[in-house]
Amino acid sequence: MEYVDRYQQVQMPKYDCLLFDLDDTLYPLSSGLAIACRKNIEDYMVQKLGIEESKIPEMCNLLYKNYGTTMAGLRAIGFDFNYDEYHSFVHGRLPYEKLKPDPVLRSLLLSLPLRKIIFTNADRVHAAKVLSRLELEDCFEGIICFETLNPTHKNTISGDNDDFEVEGSKITNPTTQPFDIIGHFSQPIAGLELPKTPIICKPSEDAIERALQIANINPQRTMFFEDSVRNIQSGKLVGLHTVLVGTSHRTKGADDVLESIHNIREALPELWETNEKSEKVGYSCNVAIETFVTA
Ligand SMILES: [Mg+2]
Repeated sequence: MEYVDRYQQVQMPKYDCLLFDLDDTLYPLSSGLAIACRKNIEDYMVQKLGIEESKIPEMCNLLYKNYGTTMAGLRAIGFDFNYDEYHSFVHGRLPYEKLKPDPVLRSLLLSLPLRKIIFTNADRVHAAKVLSRLELEDCFEGIICFETLNPTHKNTISGDNDDFEVEGSKITNPTTQPFDIIGHFSQPIAGLELPKTPIICKPSEDAIERALQIANINPQRTMFFEDSVRNIQSGKLVGLHTVLVGTSHRTKGADDVLESIHNIREALPELWETNEKSEKVGYSCNVAIETFVTA
């Protein structure tokens, strides 16, 4: 028996799956997409939700910090809106032309005999556009995106107004005043908790665990590539081997750091040191995640 265990240990590579964030991980922050995205979010808050312009920067920071994404925060504090419309406003007008095909990354990814999956908080249309611009569409087994973790949205205001439905793509402000998140942090009231969001997204550990479950991923055998320190820290807590991308500074929670995803081969040569058997391990399961067929 002992012999069998040892034999399997030798045969089994340490990792069988690579989980990649998309934005600012598979392409550099310097592309300018992140800045444009932030601007679109701010415009959406002013133009579509009627939020006072002077409050936007502080509100965005607080929502992003406390809820993972500004969108998740906006829903938590009482705004209701159509998710698809939000995504098309925020992502639809991004300067995608700034992303160029990346044949170097493409050949690195294709030469890796492991499962490769995208895990992004963004919507599937955005993920597909980015991968298409980078010419990496066929490098991944699937995409776990916003719609994967948030499959149903009835445009229903959560909380006390569960029966209140918004028709079509109409955007509606809450019937009651939104929760004053700026006031909450400037003058905290003892015992008053932040409202919860119905949106599931990184960096919540629950979101990561759901993603792992959906794609049938064992965190102990998976490397997680991310540019966000807080996502890395959550990834570490759920047991993933974490690789912080886009910096040379090691941070708490990051097992490895890569200044660019292009350095993957030099930094992690063990990923290529697998045997033939390992190639068959990962693809045996039928995962119910977004694929390029449906994206
Ligand atoms: Mg990112």
